[in-house]
Amino acid sequence: MSSKVRVRFAPSPTGPLHIGGVRTALYNYLFAKKHGGDFVLRIEDTDQNRFVEGAEDYIIESLNWCGIPYDEGPGKEKGFGPYRQSERKDKYREYAEKLIESGNAYYAFDTADELDEHRKDHEEKGKTFIYNWHNRQKLKNSLSLSQEEVQEKLDAEEAYVIRFKSPQDETLQLKDVIRGDMEIDTNILDDKVLFKSDGMPTYHLANIVDDHLMEITHVIRGEEWLPSLALHYMLYRAFGWDAPEFAHLPLILKPQGKGKLSKRDGEKMGFPVFPLEWKDPKSGDISTGYREEGYFPEAVVNMLAFLGWNPGTEQEFFKLEELCQTFELERVHKGGAKFDPEKTKWFQQHYMQQSDNAYLADEFEKELHKKEIKADKKYIADVVALIKERTVFVEDFWEQGYFFFVAPTSFDPKDSKKAWKEDTNELLNELHEFLKTVNNFEAESLQETVKGWIKSKEIGFGKVMMPLRVALVGALQGPDLYKIAEFVGKDETLSRIKKATETLS
Ligand code: GLU
Repeated sequence: MSSKVRVRFAPSPTGPLHIGGVRTALYNYLFAKKHGGDFVLRIEDTDQNRFVEGAEDYIIESLNWCGIPYDEGPGKEKGFGPYRQSERKDKYREYAEKLIESGNAYYAFDTADELDEHRKDHEEKGKTFIYNWHNRQKLKNSLSLSQEEVQEKLDAEEAYVIRFKSPQDETLQLKDVIRGDMEIDTNILDDKVLFKSDGMPTYHLANIVDDHLMEITHVIRGEEWLPSLALHYMLYRAFGWDAPEFAHLPLILKPQGKGKLSKRDGEKMGFPVFPLEWKDPKSGDISTGYREEGYFPEAVVNMLAFLGWNPGTEQEFFKLEELCQTFELERVHKGGAKFDPEKTKWFQQHYMQQSDNAYLADEFEKELHKKEIKADKKYIADVVALIKERTVFVEDFWEQGYFFFVAPTSFDPKDSKKAWKEDTNELLNELHEFLKTVNNFEAESLQETVKGWIKSKEIGFGKVMMPLRVALVGALQGPDLYKIAEFVGKDETLSRIKKATETLS
């Protein structure tokens, strides 16, 4: 590649960024980093009706949370700004007019009602109305009307749009890095509106003009934009500009495999489809996000990377830096990518196990604070090391390890029934007396001591160990029991045994 790679993520701020949008951003980011290029954020907000307050901030925060910040964009001016299309309004008219001058576009004065009439007429005859070479001469535009008539209308400030003049009888050759070469017969294309009567450009015009002015070399975007590719090619040609390379990413499908993944699928099946929580400014409705559900960004990024791409090896765990080196557009699939919420959990579990205990201890400490529990950082980190393998989310730490911080407030009825036999209380009382005499509560030593005691009593281990676990934990769960005793200490161990014998029988 000769010129510097420049890619852009160009969302419209019409609501929270869907997880599919995050994937598009991620692939752009990876491609840019792999080739030492720039990752630009451009806000496509020309459709004022669909503008949603807070959406832009949400997009930026999502990228930051994923660890894929943009190099250039709103607030990071690098000479190609402004990066919000609403702040570039004036440029677009100038380019639309250039196309009129070169004969590639024209004014169209047909009203919405008139166009509706044409549509109905055609339907009645079993045909579809397409505004293009078929019938543009019969419609009200600067190709069918005389120059004077057009000028009159313009002077009278009659509402108009500017349409692209699609060529007739041509076969366009389109290229896509993922999909290969495609051919399109221009006769089926309509004369798309480039400039609207409200003085704003449409997506097509603004997008092409900006990609050109911002020197974008590769357009990586969702498959839903593939039908626009022919028009975009024709626009580049009409302007006399070199087109960038295009790559259209596969659709993200429902977990069942059929149809596009939607917000509702997430709600129904209980998984987020947004990176971060989103509160709708109008309805106040809250949609949960991966961050709020306790996922680590590494897990979400790894999952998204594989949603439409694979490295061609068996390796499945990739951190961002590694993805930046390995990612190739050529290895992105054409076919839809099935969304698999369980797989995301699997990635999360992996990154949980990989996480640094000190970091996890910090996170767990926040949970403990909420419960007004204070504990030494080192102690929390040691607990984390013991129970980590049983957890997927930071939230699980409490359930898996509350007994390291507080005595059980209740005893699981099923487990205590299983553990308690007729002579259990008597045995535990004896153990209590015995443990009073033991000074070394360090797990290994304690194990030896207790084992020796059980042996001397000539009884089965379960008879003591099961009720002892219920006494210390409140249920038949948790890591090594001697470790728990060591961690909570002698006094606490004795007090929990006592409490259990007083409560259970
Ligand atoms: N504004 C478009 C969107 O919301 C951008 C499409 C493109 O990348 O060309 O996805």
